[in-house]
Amino acid sequence: MKIFNTITDIRYYLNSLRSNNYTIGFVPTMGALHDGHLELIKRSQKENQISVCSIFVNPIQFNNPDDLKIYPRKLEKDIEKLLSIHCDVLFNPSVKEMYPKEIKKQYDFGILGNVMEAKFRPNHFNGVATVVKLLFDIINPHKAYFGEKDFQQLIIIKQLVKKENLNVEIIPCLTIREKDGLAISSRNIQLTDEERHLAPIIYKTLLSAKKKIHTHSIKDICHWATNKLNSVSNMRVEYFEIVNGNTLESIDQINITIPIMAFVAVNLGKVRLIDNIRLV
Ligand code: AMP
Repeated sequence: MKIFNTITDIRYYLNSLRSNNYTIGFVPTMGALHDGHLELIKRSQKENQISVCSIFVNPIQFNNPDDLKIYPRKLEKDIEKLLSIHCDVLFNPSVKEMYPKEIKKQYDFGILGNVMEAKFRPNHFNGVATVVKLLFDIINPHKAYFGEKDFQQLIIIKQLVKKENLNVEIIPCLTIREKDGLAISSRNIQLTDEERHLAPIIYKTLLSAKKKIHTHSIKDICHWATNKLNSVSNMRVEYFEIVNGNTLESIDQINITIPIMAFVAVNLGKVRLIDNIRLV
């Protein structure tokens, strides 16, 4: 595996591959790699001749400095994992390399930039869009892979590609879960044993919401789910919402012509966890 830390070096290397007609798949990550990330890379390997993974903990997408400070960093283990699946290229730039000067770009994602994650993490998606645009400019991939676990991020990236007229195909990938249903996340290792034991209730509650969707009102389901999760020791719900899966707009009634999805964010102890599923 080739490892690059500078923009000039990786550009030079990938340009030569591109001019030899190699197709390039790209998986941006913040490291502390797990099976969810590896599935994205494996999918890229199936669909492209060269697969590039980036590891960059992007400071400008963290609205809470403590969260940035404790975000897991495991570069050596990450490299071992990437080697074990034969990833071709790792891009691991420093903050100075990515942001040599202050960044002022402000994106407007309309309603997507105001609801759920955006509401609870002001400026988060602006930071995500800024880094993804920068990474796309550097890597210039044919396809880029994003997990449905971060569904709002996925559709914001699709909107970014459309708005900026970027020549990259965005490929959504299913959420990979632990055996007990908990969505795999780099943050899971920050849970205490007791919290880890409790965490699968998040997915179980989403599944129960799916069961209730044809027999209960949306308002009642959200109320029930919020109370259920809040009754778990050390768990505090930020939001539990059932929305139009295309636009993420609130709905108060089921319309079978649109996908309906449930989204949840909780704080479990010091760890913030998110998940979502399609209900209809
Ligand atoms: P992160 O390192 O958390 O920024 O995630 C990098 C990419 O991996 C994003 O596209 C995430 O949506 C995706 N991802 C993270 N966890 C999972 C998972 N459990 N299943 C599928 N994709 C995931």
